[in-house]
Amino acid sequence: MASALWHGFADMGAVEKNGAFVVSRGEGAYIWDSQDNRYLDATAGLWFTNVGHGRTEIADAVAAQLSKIAHFSNFGDFVPETTQALAERLAKIAPVAGSKIFFTSGGSDSVDTAAKLARRYWHEVGQPDKNIIVGRQKAYHGMHVAGTALAGIPVNREGYGELMADAATVGWDDAKSLLELIEKVGANKIAAFFAEPIIGAGGVYLPPEGYLAEVRDICREHDILFVVDEVVTGFGRIGGEWFASTRFDLQPDMMTTAKGLTSGYVPMGAVFIAPRVAEPFYNGAWWRHGYTYGGHAGAAAAAMANLDILERENLLAESKRLEASLHTHLQPLAEHPRVSEVRSGLGAVAAVQLADPAEALPFVKTLREHGISGRAAGQGAMQISPTFVMTDDQVAEMAAGILAALG
Ligand code: PLP
Repeated sequence: MASALWHGFADMGAVEKNGAFVVSRGEGAYIWDSQDNRYLDATAGLWFTNVGHGRTEIADAVAAQLSKIAHFSNFGDFVPETTQALAERLAKIAPVAGSKIFFTSGGSDSVDTAAKLARRYWHEVGQPDKNIIVGRQKAYHGMHVAGTALAGIPVNREGYGELMADAATVGWDDAKSLLELIEKVGANKIAAFFAEPIIGAGGVYLPPEGYLAEVRDICREHDILFVVDEVVTGFGRIGGEWFASTRFDLQPDMMTTAKGLTSGYVPMGAVFIAPRVAEPFYNGAWWRHGYTYGGHAGAAAAAMANLDILERENLLAESKRLEASLHTHLQPLAEHPRVSEVRSGLGAVAAVQLADPAEALPFVKTLREHGISGRAAGQGAMQISPTFVMTDDQVAEMAAGILAALG
């Protein structure tokens, strides 16, 4: 049936021909389609429904805020009361003490905000040649211009011409390749290095032991800003802690977040900015940057209610439980001839890598016939990133569904 909707990241000819998967409601770890069929949600939407579906408490908090004032602005000296309160609350859990919070409307905004601020910072402190932004192969940093340019998924960059001058890519798992780039172009030309603690949309690749600390130290030694993209890993998905930056003591100069901040109930993102980077802009310089809906009051109310739930229900510990549970239940799938590898063991994420990447999209449809809503990420990897309320029994149900779909 012809539809007016142009989907993101889709072969629209195929969607038009085969129809859309229309989701109508959700509760806990389950969603229902428009025919009222139930599916276990293996991906928490797009990695974001950390507290689970159907939380009326968040809906009520948003409704109360919208009735009071939906939003105003945080440009200049304006700020909605709830947005102010959220910033103070986030600063208390920031990986670097004294961090400032810059609100955005989502992850891509957060990444481009950090990329712009990295360059702007060096101009402000008298090093205007430090412009190169370095990312890693396989990395995904959203779909705005800077994020697309600095990410490591070449196919997403094709067909636009040059998106951003001075973007560079190094190996995803090899700190030496960052050092080699520094030796080649000079640290005095490099503004920042961006890293996802776990490569997410690029296929769920866990960092090699010690890698994150190593690149942190390389950035420190060469005076390159270290930007940790925690759009996926933040707000508990890393397991047991608010952020990978706290779990691995990464001390980021900037940390980009979105998704789990509101569990996706309302779009919102935030960049955590360490005192060093904020300093010039609190002492004379000012930054001509901001988004109309950055720090939207309704989104801030959703974030406050979401953080209340994460704390009250001890969901960071539940995410750590899932780290072990996913590993236990999914690793046996690696024995299946259609599976080349299962990546798991860090955070509430995993990937079931199909041996033939071309099978991934049809496999998503087969999975649905077995009551699982899944998603292909990277080259033929099945993304697993459940809500933190998924029980161990439901993880077992998910693994059994995947096995049945593999045939
Ligand atoms: N950064 C990372 C690591 C992400 O995984 C994503 C989205 O998946 C983004 C940035 C972009 O976020 P958004 O889609 O909210 O713009």
